[in-house]
Amino acid sequence: MIRDAARAAIVGVLALGFYAIADLRRDVIAAVVGNDAAPAAAPRLPAATGAGLTPTAHLRVVLVDGAGADTAHTMPAWNALCARGLDLTLDVGFPTVSLPVQLALWGGRSQQQTGVLFHSGKVVTPALGGSGIPAQVPGSIAIAESHPYIAHSLGFADTRPPLGKKLPDGWATRWIDDARAAVASPARLAFVHVLRVDTAGHKFGKRSGSWRSAAATADVILGQLIAAGPPGARWIVLADHDHIDGGGHGGEQRAIRIVRTCIAGPDVRTGRGGPIHITDLSRAIADSLGVTLPTDSPGRPLEAAIAAPVDDADVLPTLPGGRVALAWALVVLAVAATLWAVWCYPGWRKLLVAPWWWPVAMLSLCAFAEAPTLSTPMIYKPRGLDMAQAFAPGLAVLAVSLTITLRSGWTRALVTQLAVPAMGTLAVLIVCGGTSLIWGDAPCPVVPFWTAWLAALLLMASAAAAVAALVLLATAVLSASGPSAPPETHHTEPAAP
Ligand SMILES: [Zn+2]
Repeated sequence: MIRDAARAAIVGVLALGFYAIADLRRDVIAAVVGNDAAPAAAPRLPAATGAGLTPTAHLRVVLVDGAGADTAHTMPAWNALCARGLDLTLDVGFPTVSLPVQLALWGGRSQQQTGVLFHSGKVVTPALGGSGIPAQVPGSIAIAESHPYIAHSLGFADTRPPLGKKLPDGWATRWIDDARAAVASPARLAFVHVLRVDTAGHKFGKRSGSWRSAAATADVILGQLIAAGPPGARWIVLADHDHIDGGGHGGEQRAIRIVRTCIAGPDVRTGRGGPIHITDLSRAIADSLGVTLPTDSPGRPLEAAIAAPVDDADVLPTLPGGRVALAWALVVLAVAATLWAVWCYPGWRKLLVAPWWWPVAMLSLCAFAEAPTLSTPMIYKPRGLDMAQAFAPGLAVLAVSLTITLRSGWTRALVTQLAVPAMGTLAVLIVCGGTSLIWGDAPCPVVPFWTAWLAALLLMASAAAAVAALVLLATAVLSASGPSAPPETHHTEPAAP
């Protein structure tokens, strides 16, 4: 009777775990896309000496959102501009999300320094203040094709279209006239944010006809803008990130992070180089306008940046040592508990009963869907059905392993199958800095690699709790019914000779 009550309690706890972990996963995703992080240290870019750009009377900046390097090379107007100036690769930093990248571009501080890592879909208030570049340039103008919350976060004197739930009537075509007028105006700084390539990427992927036609029309618009600009203007054209083939961005992959930027005009030499860092390009913009960046900006003078290109280690944030040590301690404890639990199984069966379901689930996720990154849209889905379908083979292995091992006692069986996956998932939550989401809110838990896996591992943990509850329930029912059921007297199998 006592054993039945204990078993019922465990089934209850597992069922609760199914809901609670799924809920925690939704909180993690909400914190990733919605929360900001505490401002952190600047990246340490390699030191070098070299001159910065000289001031210019008219600076024109065009950002083609999402158009990575290979796309940029298919755009004739962009290519023509690069051919008469500096054709550089640009490391936009991490994460590769438009608003945080643009805050770095216009404010001179990296994503980690501002703490704005995702901040999806909403304006930053107060906008990049007096220390930002646009606010230091009287009469600065920004025109955005869509998603005006980004441009409105940057502190331009005149930003169009206005913020609102919907774009103004006719804006889909009128913005091009406004952008042409802005670059042709006497304003010292005009900025145009082209979004159609990014929109096509999210909707149809990077290998779609929609992407190619968006890139083609974006290039026609770029050509019209360059033709409309004042004679002698300096031009900077860039992208803020690329997309994965199926559409999506945000992760740390070099293919998404390293884009093309070109700087051309009188007083700008021709040549190639890079990658320079996004804050180096910020410095180039500030120097072009004779304004200053905050003293903690890591941005280097342009020739120094070209002389000392950045690498992953310079740009990607490192994980806090304390969190990593704690995570390792948990994993070691869980492995020890699992070794204890499997020790009673005879000989080679020790190997058979290990929690193989977990690596099987991860491998099948990568095989039948894709490896999770912050660029893969599947990790943000609230219910995660795409991921669950892909890692289902792992759950099948769990069900079989549990059914076999339950005969040797369910405590041992549950420890064997669940200790490492549960503690491993908790360790990843700790590494990401999201522990306080268990009882409340947390700063944006975005770190390279691990945050994306956290969204997958939490879903696996939730599903595993449900599978374990069902298997426990089913074996209880089966052993209590039919006369063929084995008596529940042997809880451990005899040890191997
Ligand atoms: Zn996007």
